[in-house]
Amino acid sequence: MTTEGRRFLVKARISEIFQSIQGEGKYAGVKQVFVRFYGCNLRCVWCDTAEALGDAPDEFKEMSADEVVSRIDALWNGCHSVSLTGGEPLLQKSFVGAMAPLLKEKNVPLYLETNGVLHEALADVIAYMDIVSMDIKLPSSTRCPPCWPEHEKFLRIAARDKGKDVFVKAVISSRTDQQDMEKAVAIVKDAHPDAWFFIQPDIADTRNGVLKKLRQFQDYALRHLLNVRVMPQMHKILGVK
Ligand code: SF4
Repeated sequence: MTTEGRRFLVKARISEIFQSIQGEGKYAGVKQVFVRFYGCNLRCVWCDTAEALGDAPDEFKEMSADEVVSRIDALWNGCHSVSLTGGEPLLQKSFVGAMAPLLKEKNVPLYLETNGVLHEALADVIAYMDIVSMDIKLPSSTRCPPCWPEHEKFLRIAARDKGKDVFVKAVISSRTDQQDMEKAVAIVKDAHPDAWFFIQPDIADTRNGVLKKLRQFQDYALRHLLNVRVMPQMHKILGVK
């Protein structure tokens, strides 16, 4: 199918498109248009959004690439970039591959927010991305099965092109084990040692010694990586989307 055909025929399940402030990581505070994709391949214990998990069949709209781009145009108003978020945007990689060239034609920077597991899908669309905000899922935090090999492959693909700004985030709660933090740091050190590493406290779980743990984890990570920052999710503190 030609690019021209794909822009009309490939449709995505989109939960919502809105303008807001980025609340996480290296670009916290910038103004973005967010395209929230419906559904996810993981089930983190703290994720209670039915649209993100794909448990709300009435909570998405099927949209073509042209329709999404028109909506982005209407909301743009001096934004920094478009955040492809979810759920997990790479679950709908054919759509991402159809829409991204349309945005690149307009010189719109693309920011991918991803759980960092679907490495084959990333390989298909990484050329279009300017910024990759990748989660590294610590099983003791998420209560999901480990995804270490997938995370490592994902980060290696993201690291291939030095022009991409790639950073990694790990959510820490009172349940998080030191062992998981060590494994995550080892993967980043090996696969993309220049990537900034964000230790992100789960703001619903900041008691039970979490602050002490954050300091210990940061000290540990700084022995292996150059840029390690503790940063909560700002949008949750501000009460914005
Ligand atoms: S990866 Fe994100 S969207 Fe998916 S279950 Fe975890 S928190 Fe929810």
